[in-house]
Amino acid sequence: MTGRPGRTGRSGNQAGAGDLLQLVRHGRAVTRGALQQATGLSRATVGQRLDRLFRAGWLREGAGGGVGSPLGGRPSATLEFDGSHAVVLAADLDTRHGRAAVLTLTGDILAEHAGTLVVEDGPGPVLGELARWFAELLVKSGHLPAQVCGIGLAVPGPVDSESGRVVQPPIMPGWDGYDIRGRLSRALTEYTGAPAVPVLVDNDANLMAYGEQRTGYPDCPAFVLVKVSTGIGAGVVVDGSIYRGADGGAGDLGHIRVGADALCRCGSHGCLAAVASGGAVARRLAASGVPATSGSDVRELLADGHPEAASLAREAGRRVGDVLATVVTLLNPGVLMIAGDLAGTPFLTGVRELLYQRALPRSTAHLEVVTSRLGERAGLIGAGALVVEYLYAPERVEERLAELGV
Ligand SMILES: [Zn+2]
Repeated sequence: MTGRPGRTGRSGNQAGAGDLLQLVRHGRAVTRGALQQATGLSRATVGQRLDRLFRAGWLREGAGGGVGSPLGGRPSATLEFDGSHAVVLAADLDTRHGRAAVLTLTGDILAEHAGTLVVEDGPGPVLGELARWFAELLVKSGHLPAQVCGIGLAVPGPVDSESGRVVQPPIMPGWDGYDIRGRLSRALTEYTGAPAVPVLVDNDANLMAYGEQRTGYPDCPAFVLVKVSTGIGAGVVVDGSIYRGADGGAGDLGHIRVGADALCRCGSHGCLAAVASGGAVARRLAASGVPATSGSDVRELLADGHPEAASLAREAGRRVGDVLATVVTLLNPGVLMIAGDLAGTPFLTGVRELLYQRALPRSTAHLEVVTSRLGERAGLIGAGALVVEYLYAPERVEERLAELGV
């Protein structure tokens, strides 16, 4: 969705206000001169388009005071996207836990809440409760409902991003095909009186990958994040955009059959998630008398250095590493990030053992295998960024500026 504009311009030649805004937002060109160079537009035309963005309150002169010209001319002021002219609501749902926040348009969290939200309770109650959280968070952050420009939601299942509906989710009973956008938007209006805003829904691993890539590795052309918690999923970001595949199914690694006979939550036997997820490690621990029922229990045991948990996590890492050898060979990513409850040294050691043994040296020569930088906030940050990229995409900017009358 974001692209990486260099010399840009839609319909063949003329870059519009939205193209200029995107160049500034992505840090590719942040002075009038750089925008002229990147777009081929005249100084006057760049000035006219920027004026509209200034009048809308979307752009401002940077605080830095300007960049001096190498030829000694007068410094040209740097331009900045104004991240505070509206706010985004974002939420990340896990199977038994939710996290919600009010964010600026540049991804700063202004107010945040985390608590119990059980996806098995079904979409109606869960989305209603989420809207209540959002209403409270708006009060806490000191923002009016009318300042909300959009909502981003991460869910633990496959999503058709066009319709925002979950498609045959293995672990979200009652959500298949449900109108998440409509329900969440209506519920927010009920609680706050806010007008309807766009709601974007995507898979949690996709949004975690998007959040981590944009904040930590913006120049990485192929980024893969694998989330290993109650289940296992992966998000792929290629050239700055989430890669979803033809049917939104890209990255759903958890239900690849790896030949074991453990029963998976999806109803099949032998899935990767049934033998190598946080849930699977918890079941193995429980069978030998260690109290653990979920991935988050395993996370706590690993943090305490529990030896059996560490050994099972390393074994799970080897299972996942075996599958990732294929992923890495196919995509040749620059960064492979491990996130979720099992992300830690034992699991990573297991991943590396199998990965470097099975993948071709050429596809791993420059590969960084790392753990999450944003931790539990990755999905939120990604969901917020997705909304901003949607609303400020060049093709939507003209229409929105016209609505504002500038
Ligand atoms: Zn399965």
